[in-house]
Amino acid sequence: MLPDRKGKFGIFGGRFAPETLIGPLEELEKEYKRISKTKEFKRELNYLLKEYAGRPTSLYFAKNFSEYLGFKVYLKREDLAFTGAHKINNTLGQVLLAKMMGKTRVIAETGAGQHGVATATASALLNMECVVYMGEIDVERQKLNVYRMKLLGAQIISVTSGSRTLKDAINEAMRDWITNFKTTHYVIGSVVGPHPYPMIVRDFQSIIGKETKKQIIKKEGRLPDYLVACVGGGSNSLGLFYPFYNNRDVKFIGIEAGGYGLETEKHASTLLKGEKGVLHGSFSYVLQDNYGQIKITHSISAGLDYPGVGPEHAFYKDTKRADYFAVNDEIALKGFHILSEIEGIIPALEPAHAIGWLVENKEKFRKDDIVVVCLSGRGDKDVMEVAKIEGEL
Ligand SMILES: *Cc1c(COP(=O)(O)O)cnc(C)c1O
Repeated sequence: MLPDRKGKFGIFGGRFAPETLIGPLEELEKEYKRISKTKEFKRELNYLLKEYAGRPTSLYFAKNFSEYLGFKVYLKREDLAFTGAHKINNTLGQVLLAKMMGKTRVIAETGAGQHGVATATASALLNMECVVYMGEIDVERQKLNVYRMKLLGAQIISVTSGSRTLKDAINEAMRDWITNFKTTHYVIGSVVGPHPYPMIVRDFQSIIGKETKKQIIKKEGRLPDYLVACVGGGSNSLGLFYPFYNNRDVKFIGIEAGGYGLETEKHASTLLKGEKGVLHGSFSYVLQDNYGQIKITHSISAGLDYPGVGPEHAFYKDTKRADYFAVNDEIALKGFHILSEIEGIIPALEPAHAIGWLVENKEKFRKDDIVVVCLSGRGDKDVMEVAKIEGEL
């Protein structure tokens, strides 16, 4: 199964890292392969996912939304996982792994703060020192999450270099890891980065798809026709898709952030508009200019606002295992409102892209189709932002 021994998904992936990081990455790969197979690790992680994070999350038949669309839609309710999104699945896994590797400290980078909060949560629980790198501009924009992380005992380092946002925070976290890898594990938040990260994060997020498979068979007696999820770095979507990889009749649909529209430069649609290149240690699709400089992206949802995408998605795209589409900010807002109004579920703006895409494309489906949508997170974090945009505040 993928990736191969060099960490490649076809031509994508790999380990494009400075020499000083090759040792730590090899150690991580070796230790992950050993520790993740042990009974002790599996038992402890299962226990935490269940008793602490509230898994399994429900696979909810959205009756009203189904009637509205004209076919059956189930929502995989990652919004009900502890801390309000799927990110906790990965951080519990990685922080537990770090602890069993004998590390005492974890570091992470965060843009909007969601991955930082999930890492700080797992670190508080497992008694690990936690340092989170965040661009100075993001620290300003995300004051509530910054305070949340502090409450959880994490130290926030405000990064003042470059554009003072996520990509600069990643650079600083890398520097920290190079200096401190003997004591420190770097918790990456999506299926990106050099091998073995895309594999590790996918494996930890695969709980989403594994549960879905059992649940849909119990409810419908068969597998779904479509799996639909939003794609930022690509972890909630791959977590849902991957356990169905060999079920060729199950179609995968990934929805990217179209921002102000793909014809403008203001979007974050990496698979549809990017070119092959290297970003953050891995060969994949990247939004870059003719000189290889990374473009400035835009999305209404911070979680999708990233110029790269996981290499396994690049492979799914080129081999046509999955189809990718984009919807712009406006359609995402439409999805945000519709689900709130007819199901009483306020979705995060990220999965609101997947909801909005379904609404816009409902003629593509047949009456007896079964569609599972990954509701990757809850919308409480976005309510203020939407109210501001719509002039309610
Ligand atoms: C971070 C985030 C995403 C985007 O990240 P992926 O790695 O693509 O899943 C999507 N939804 C929510 C709720 C998030 O917090």
